[in-house]
Amino acid sequence: AGIIPSASMLRSKQRENWWSQPLQVHTCIKPLTVGGNADNIQTPADENCPATDEADSEVTDGIYLAGFRRSFRLWRRTSYRRRRQSCSSCSPDTSTLCPPYEEVALYQRPPQENHRLIILLGATRVGVNELRKNLIKLNPSSFQSPVPHTTRPMRAGEQTGREYHFITRELFEYMVCNHRFVEYGEFKGQLYGTSTDSIDDVLRRGRMCIIDVEPHSIQPLRSKKLKPFVIFIKPPAADRLRETRRNARILLSCRETREFREEDFVNLEETSRLIEEKYKQFFDFTLENNELQESCRKLYSIIKEAQEEEQWIPVSWSR
Ligand code: 5GP
Repeated sequence: AGIIPSASMLRSKQRENWWSQPLQVHTCIKPLTVGGNADNIQTPADENCPATDEADSEVTDGIYLAGFRRSFRLWRRTSYRRRRQSCSSCSPDTSTLCPPYEEVALYQRPPQENHRLIILLGATRVGVNELRKNLIKLNPSSFQSPVPHTTRPMRAGEQTGREYHFITRELFEYMVCNHRFVEYGEFKGQLYGTSTDSIDDVLRRGRMCIIDVEPHSIQPLRSKKLKPFVIFIKPPAADRLRETRRNARILLSCRETREFREEDFVNLEETSRLIEEKYKQFFDFTLENNELQESCRKLYSIIKEAQEEEQWIPVSWSR
């Protein structure tokens, strides 16, 4: 373990057909507390797992071979463990956590299949929201956001089913209990949430569904059905950010965006760094939001590529 195999070792492993044997993701691995960075790869293993030694001795090969086959970018992002035996002491609960090493496969979305869900994520919902709204405004026939549910009263000029589905707290809680929300939260005493049905609704219409969520909501959204493509929106450096905020307020109406306070600028960089560190293994793309219009154009082409070209996805989503 710890030694990167030489090219001749790799060739001999290739001859042995080493990687064509069935692979099984080991589920008793504790999740990474920091992002999946090849320079900082941890191989936490369950002390009670009888197969731990074998797993650790093979993981370096796994990491390297994944990179060898699949590009440097993926080498940094993914890897997988080979298991020849299952571990009887693995807790069933841990199988729902994302393993630190994930087997990936190439996927090309068939034209008859729904679009992949596009998840935008960032340190501030404000910047991400602006990007999402602007993108939809520029391409209303291609992109749409699901209509969220809320328990807050309807305001003048709003319509149920347009801005929100306005429902009672009882119904909202009933929907929570029945796992009808992919994410939900409370704001000023009112509940807000995005339902699976509202996402399905957008996808069934053949549009690309874009949502922005809190980082902790990514994990429950990672499913074979939605095949989410996660884009991390990274803020620019603080000085540049001050400038872009001014421009965004001029471009969009001030009602649609809000002014940043000085402490927002200070916190933003640190929050963004922490999110990146903790959730990096889920990101399919990182976009630096330097300037709204330029970022929007870039976002459009990234999303098009995600929907139309071959992409790496967890192998369990492709079977
Ligand atoms: P408003 O009541 O002014 O329309 O929205 C208040 C807040 O609710 C906003 O900060 C907005 O981000 C949040 N919100 C709107 N929709 C959702 C949603 O689907 N899920 C969550 N968690 N928050 C939402």
